[in-house]
Amino acid sequence: MKIAIAKEVEVGERRVALNPDIVARLVKQGLEIWVEVDAGEASFYSNDAYEAAGATIISDTAKLWGEADVLLKVGIPKDHEINQMREGSVLLSFLSPLAQPETVQHLAGRKITAFGMEMIPRTSRAQSMDALSSQAGVAGYKAVLIAAAALPKFFPMLTTAAGTIRPAKVFVMGAGVAGLQAIATARRLGAVVEAFDIRPAVKEEVQSLGAKFVEVKLDEDTVAAGGYAKEISEAAKQRTQEVVTEHVKNSDVVITTAQVPGKKAPLLVTEEMVAQMAPGSVIVDLAAEQGGNCAGTEPGKDVVRHGVTIIGPINLPSSMPVHASQMYAKNISTLLQYLIKDGELQLNFEDDIIDSTCITHGGEIRNQRVKDALTQVGATV
Ligand code: NAD
Repeated sequence: MKIAIAKEVEVGERRVALNPDIVARLVKQGLEIWVEVDAGEASFYSNDAYEAAGATIISDTAKLWGEADVLLKVGIPKDHEINQMREGSVLLSFLSPLAQPETVQHLAGRKITAFGMEMIPRTSRAQSMDALSSQAGVAGYKAVLIAAAALPKFFPMLTTAAGTIRPAKVFVMGAGVAGLQAIATARRLGAVVEAFDIRPAVKEEVQSLGAKFVEVKLDEDTVAAGGYAKEISEAAKQRTQEVVTEHVKNSDVVITTAQVPGKKAPLLVTEEMVAQMAPGSVIVDLAAEQGGNCAGTEPGKDVVRHGVTIIGPINLPSSMPVHASQMYAKNISTLLQYLIKDGELQLNFEDDIIDSTCITHGGEIRNQRVKDALTQVGATV
């Protein structure tokens, strides 16, 4: 079976689907690995390193896409890439199937069996395949470093001959995977950290990282199936705003990470809250690409409102491509190995990991939510 790694074509994408260490492991298991020339260049993995790991470097892109049995990628495939794949071949990649259902329709039309890395169930059995978590951890870490670099103050408390410096106050809103890593990173830098989330279950995790949990008692259920947050009512939004306003106002740095699957990101920091922060304060909005948690966030830009710098970074995992790729490689190779039994691809749709991750197979779109998204835009499915 030929497994191919394509060079990412999205502007600004520096990650690669497999690193040479994982390639060496897969080659040892008898798989043939093709790597598009320079696929690892932006992640600092050289063609030589892949060759030394046992891969074949391919410079003919059409051959790589057209002859591989399984293609591994990070970013959503482009139409010209899908057009080169042969019927019956397999793709493992992030697909953003709900945001880009047309790509899924194209994959089904070309009879590609496509697996979406964001659809891996968040269960302990699938933990080592969980690319959303590994990449969210990178984003949470980097968000704090960006905030620290933009803040005109120290993070840690310092006692010096030139006087005592008070530690920075950091408020993390949304304590999922990214938020928890942000808390841990801000603590390591010496900040005093508070965190807030509508899921009460995270309180202990927040506290175990040395942060204070800001509790908001709500009269409604905030947790949906799978442990994800639900969209909350207007009354609950108002209640949370009343409580968090004071904490935002008193913080030097606010890191927002709140998401509700399949919905626009909730607005947590209003324009009025920004106006109450001290000039020079910094907000890093990790939900910038999903509509933003903060009023005034512009994806990919730093903007200054009321003297507060609001940063809306895009694709932070790509800014740390060595480790982001290493972790993604572990996730995607674990899924790949899970699908292969006795050298053959075996799709047992009774298995929850395979069932929820496989989006297209045999010309069909297998995921009902993607079908609904397509119907909404007037497509026939
Ligand atoms: P996410 O990226 O979907 O959301 C980030 C955080 O934002 C969540 O903690 C969510 O509760 C919070 N949030 C949503 N709306 C909010 C609001 N209005 N105000 C404040 N906070 C709000 O979350 P995630 O990091 O992907 O984690 C989602 C779930 O998956 C969690 O239950 C997590 O424990 C679980 N998970 C399980 C595993 C596993 O078992 N393998 C791995 C990762 C995550």
